[in-house]
Amino acid sequence: MEEVLACYVGRLAPSPTGALHLGNVRTFLIAYLRARSLGGKVIFRMEDLDHPRDKPGAAAEAREDLRWLGFDWDEYYVQSERKHIYREALAQLPVYPCVCTRRDVERAQSAPHEGDQLYYPGICRGRFASWAEAAKAAGPLRMPCWRFRVEEGTRVEFDDVFAGHYSQDVSVVLGDFPLARDEAGAGYTLAAVVDDLLMGVTEVVRGDDLLPATPAQILVARALKGSVPAYCHVPLVVGPDGRRLAKRHGDTRIGHYRASGVKPEEIIGFLASSCGWCPRGESVAIKELVENFRLDSIPHEPFSCSIQSSNILGG
Ligand code: GLU
Repeated sequence: MEEVLACYVGRLAPSPTGALHLGNVRTFLIAYLRARSLGGKVIFRMEDLDHPRDKPGAAAEAREDLRWLGFDWDEYYVQSERKHIYREALAQLPVYPCVCTRRDVERAQSAPHEGDQLYYPGICRGRFASWAEAAKAAGPLRMPCWRFRVEEGTRVEFDDVFAGHYSQDVSVVLGDFPLARDEAGAGYTLAAVVDDLLMGVTEVVRGDDLLPATPAQILVARALKGSVPAYCHVPLVVGPDGRRLAKRHGDTRIGHYRASGVKPEEIIGFLASSCGWCPRGESVAIKELVENFRLDSIPHEPFSCSIQSSNILGG
């Protein structure tokens, strides 16, 4: 038994697209404690390949915020330093360049789509012999993307550790999905899958907004002949209006609490209480939670967070 537990490898994979807030941190707390409670390893991976959306300084700030909150990790990676690895993986995949704009793809929808993912009917399949040819057709203002060719009837099923059984016919829901907007393959979907395989991640714990994107990721992992990790998708934090926690709900950035004199244990205690690990209003350090951690006390509904920035975390 112990040997099995010692093999658990989990990861924290922030994108530096904005400051860390209560929503991200609750998911990271679950991911971190899940790994530590099983005697496993925690990998920190900065997913900084989304250049137009990445914010300067956000990566360093996220790292510092997490350390301040009491997180630690055993290995540290930055995706922008690993682009050569994604290029090699891309060469093994059934991909083709596509020059369709979002509007082209939106116009091609025949049914409502799941989440913000769009169905792609393969308009550019077989159209270009190379990326260079596609880039020329796209013109100087647009970039092509690589799409993964999904054969008809490609249904992916898996048992999510938290969300339960999930099944999706990727050829119907997504069609040929985008893999990367970069010639060499340095883009979120490909990079995340390649890194999970190479880093030996055994279980991916993350927000359930990514559940509908998971079957596509499993297809990529299988095409790379990798050992597909288990998935554990947990509910997001939402504001009183039921929408994903964001600026409009007040300032819940960790840096804001930190500057206002809130203690890390108050933030961790608040989030831990939302997961059923301690009473509301208790201050607790991350390390003290390792023993109390359980997945089955986490509510299956999104955590509705109504605190205002002025009335910080008080019970
Ligand atoms: N970097 C992604 C995000 O912050 C998470 C990706 C993942 O966990 O697979 O949304």
